Amino acid sequence: MQIAFIGLGNMGSPMATNLIKAGHRLCVFDLVESAMQALEAEGASRAASAEEAVSGAEVVISMLPAGQHVKQLYLGSDDVPGLLERLDGKPLIIDASTIAPDDSRCVGEQASARGLTFLDAPVSGGVGGAKAGTLTFIVGGSSEGFSEAKPVLEGMGKNVFHAGDIGAGQVAKICNNMLLGILMSGTAEALALGVKNGLDPAVLSEIIKQSSGGNWALNVYNPWPGVMEKAPASNDYQGGFLTDLMAKDLGLAWELALKSKATVPMGSQARNLYALHASQGNGRLDFSSIQRLYRAGEES
Ligand code: NAD
Repeated sequence: MQIAFIGLGNMGSPMATNLIKAGHRLCVFDLVESAMQALEAEGASRAASAEEAVSGAEVVISMLPAGQHVKQLYLGSDDVPGLLERLDGKPLIIDASTIAPDDSRCVGEQASARGLTFLDAPVSGGVGGAKAGTLTFIVGGSSEGFSEAKPVLEGMGKNVFHAGDIGAGQVAKICNNMLLGILMSGTAEALALGVKNGLDPAVLSEIIKQSSGGNWALNVYNPWPGVMEKAPASNDYQGGFLTDLMAKDLGLAWELALKSKATVPMGSQARNLYALHASQGNGRLDFSSIQRLYRAGEES
């Protein structure tokens, strides 16, 4: 298939690489030149603009930071028309970014008005899953669109779920990430408490992993430096899933709770912790760096 891929960051870059490995022809676009060069080296062709990337595409995939970027791309602004207006064919449009369900619905409605199929397909599994091609895709949109997208998504992921109508993928993803933010901050809190009381963080991690507090963060993403060689914590919290993005996702959960009159006291707590951590200059660090919040003043 001829695929346009827009947004080659921590996630988009390995996802696009896996599509090339699966035999698709890719034309890529990102605002960052070096990101496009890396994909060119993998066999993609590089476009000078998003509009050029989608020319002749059968499928368009976007992997952008937040709702404002997705809306700007597809719907444009007062003076710049969006991609939906400038498509020369009728490609299937898949947005894999994590954004508000209402933003997905807004783009989906505009796409549908032009006879286009739009799906929200946020992912879970992190950069490790993106590189290994084992992501979980959580799709919202029509059954026909889902069936069309599935073989393409299977080139980047292991599990592909159909959550419901447009926006349903985002709702499920936001619930998942709210729980992840709670689990990561709770894990960091427990490790800091143990270490403060003389325990070795690696030993404590192993004990909790085999006990009732075991969780994903401890299994594959330990937040304490040096416990897990390949985790971002052991690489000065570089790469991975940015604190800014986790703060955004917890904000999305909070907005969703407000709109639906749901109560999310644990999610609100995690949102405040991540907002505080980001405001202290840690926004570009991996989200497991929340551990540092619990270690502040450790030396004293
Ligand atoms: P990132 O910040 O690393 O990458 C985003 C990329 O989009 C950047 O390369 C940026 O230059 C590009 N970009 C921004 N605006 C653009 C535009 N108008 N046109 C073209 N390119 C543009 O972010 P990421 O970690 O890859 O995450 C992307 C999305 O996936 C986010 O919504 C995030 O919440 C979600 N997500 C991330 C992870 C993770 O572990 N990193 C996991 C699951 C979901």
